[in-house]
Amino acid sequence: MSNYRFKALEIAMNRSAVAVVAPTEKVTEFFASNTFSDEVMKARLTSEAYQKVSNAIRSGSKIEREIADEVAAAMRAWATSRGATHFTHWFQPLTGGTAEKHDSFFDLNSAGKALENFRGSALVQQEPDASSFPSGGIRATFEARGYTGWDPSSPAFLMDNGAGGKTLCIPSVFISYTGEVLDFKTPLLKALHALDKAATAVMHYFDRNVEKVSATLGPEQEYFLVDKALYYARPDLVMAGRTVFGHAPARGQQLEDHYFGSIPPRVNAFMVDFEFEALKLGIPVRTRHNEVAPGQFECAPTFEEVNLAIDHNALLMDLMHKTAERHNFKVLFHEKPFAGINGSGKHNNWSLMTDTGVNMLALSSKPKENLRFLTFLVNVVKAVHDHADLLRASIATAGNEHRLGANEAPPAIISVFLGQELTKLLEELETKGQIVLDKGDNVYYKLGITRIPPLVRENTDRNRTSPFAFTGNKFEFRAVGGGANSANTMIVLNTIVANQLKEFAVALEQRLEAGEKKELAVVEILKQYYRASKKILFEGNGYGEEWLTEAKKRGLSNIITTYEALGNYIKPASVELFEKMAVLTEREMHARYEIELENYMKRIQIESRVIGDLAQNHVVSTAVKYQYRLAQTAKSLVELDLHNEAAPIKELIVEISQRVAVIKQAVYDMTEARKRANAEENVAHRARLYGSEVKDFFEKIRYEVDKLEVIIDDEDWPLVKYRELLFIK
Ligand code: ADP
Ligand code: MG
Repeated sequence: MSNYRFKALEIAMNRSAVAVVAPTEKVTEFFASNTFSDEVMKARLTSEAYQKVSNAIRSGSKIEREIADEVAAAMRAWATSRGATHFTHWFQPLTGGTAEKHDSFFDLNSAGKALENFRGSALVQQEPDASSFPSGGIRATFEARGYTGWDPSSPAFLMDNGAGGKTLCIPSVFISYTGEVLDFKTPLLKALHALDKAATAVMHYFDRNVEKVSATLGPEQEYFLVDKALYYARPDLVMAGRTVFGHAPARGQQLEDHYFGSIPPRVNAFMVDFEFEALKLGIPVRTRHNEVAPGQFECAPTFEEVNLAIDHNALLMDLMHKTAERHNFKVLFHEKPFAGINGSGKHNNWSLMTDTGVNMLALSSKPKENLRFLTFLVNVVKAVHDHADLLRASIATAGNEHRLGANEAPPAIISVFLGQELTKLLEELETKGQIVLDKGDNVYYKLGITRIPPLVRENTDRNRTSPFAFTGNKFEFRAVGGGANSANTMIVLNTIVANQLKEFAVALEQRLEAGEKKELAVVEILKQYYRASKKILFEGNGYGEEWLTEAKKRGLSNIITTYEALGNYIKPASVELFEKMAVLTEREMHARYEIELENYMKRIQIESRVIGDLAQNHVVSTAVKYQYRLAQTAKSLVELDLHNEAAPIKELIVEISQRVAVIKQAVYDMTEARKRANAEENVAHRARLYGSEVKDFFEKIRYEVDKLEVIIDDEDWPLVKYRELLFIK
């Protein structure tokens, strides 16, 4: 068999589930066993050191050198006792993914004697040769120095890379020699700090006992699984993470029989396996199920503090890739690996939590607490309204561009869904200055503004088409891409909410100074906010055509392309906001903008090259070979005087020629467009050329290739077909 598609299929069809053994019977017995957890610290540190580290975790206080030395010694002892030989600062550069450079604990002393060494200085700071990480011009590549620094708020963990030797991973930030931020974590920590300060201050108007507010995140991770052999038989999946060609299968997701269906045994084994590994690392994975598209699945954790949740998600993605190897799968996190069926998102469930354990976006049964609830709810809505373009920028990537605005994905328009009940409540607040609550059974509670009634806890209506939906006790930002690091979104969201809460506090203070009563003043401000931002609220079908028209009428932006959306990062208002909140400087904002644009262009460049290669040396070559066979057949028929019989075959020959001609021309033109784009100096213009002129050819070429797929003999077709990629389990 020369056609490797069939070889791959044969391998894939003969696989069965790989057995997985649970570490111990109960999850509670091994949960977080591979982390330098609070428990481990308590057991291994002096009480002074333990207190200092705990304080640092809780309030960000500084850890002195001697304490760091003690922590390092304890970490090394713990890690080596569990089989670790190396350590690394583990960080999240702007390339996406995670970065690690392993150093051995082993060292030689001056007398050449072998010893094991790990000092506080090595724990606190490392200097990787970071010249190859993107820095958007901040750090010229010849200046290779950049520093990573220990983040005590995220526990160190042991990474097992299979063949023996484990590595102690120390979650870290990454900054340039000149002190600029080169990673996701640093601005995230700053944004979370700003949010804590602003939200705690506002919280004090309602409850003086609160000392700290944390943002919480539960990222639901969608992904596709493809058999490893089939994956390697699709060069586009290998190179670009998505299929650039492929005719839609006769059966896609229209039967809706995959969603929540029974999980195939091979897939289940993979899930169980990576979940065990995740749980050992303290990642609280909880939910698993089939997603809407065939071959698509989801994994959701229990929510955690945002910084931790993001580290855990990045780690989880890495673990899933590694575990998939054992099960002969490849995991696709790409936002749109297959045309015509659902793509993958990472729904960011987000809320605010006090150190006293109160979810500030949850409805309460105590009337007094509901004014607090409404305050935070309306402030979030206002923040999203005022900075929708920044949120849009935070989800803009080459992959997500295929997903946003496609008919089964959240639109590129940012809107907020609150549900009928809350919307009605806010309407009443605005128009009548009082709150009327419909419990659904037509029982109305009418109460004055200062006596807000208990609200119903369950917010039953749901909207799966809203990009930013309130779901009863949290917001769910559904437009984040499956392959993204949620940090971008969390940096923006927490910064804009922090800023909004600060403004609220100022407005409230002014009214209080003028002698207004607190409750009345709060309600008055919320009324104004609601009025000013209600055009962002949308309860209808976000995937419908009418919404596009309606949103336009309301003046909401609908930014389709990634390069335009990213431009929002460097608008003066955005820069001013980020500087004011001390999250990112102007230089850093510009650097990020450039890095994201570069990322975008590189992806399109790769896809464009893959399309060109596959079109020519897989598709066209196969087409002309098949055409030759057709020509031989037609010739024989004509020789037998069977002219009528030869006619349809001749038509096929002509059709193939026509399609091949279009493909060849388009590939040529696309290459020319790429050359023009590459010659463009200005990065924004270059990105626009890639995103429009180069990318414009993708659909055109694909259309012809997919047509050829259905006329050419199945036995000849070299690329694994959609029905095979998606339905073999
Ligand atoms: P869904 O709403 O999608 O049906 P769940 O209600 O189980 O599913 O929640 C989905 C995700 O939301 C989970 O990861 C969960 O931990 C997270 N979540 C729940 N409450 C909060 C919260 N207060 N803050 C952040 N995330 C939360
Ligand atoms: Mg959800």
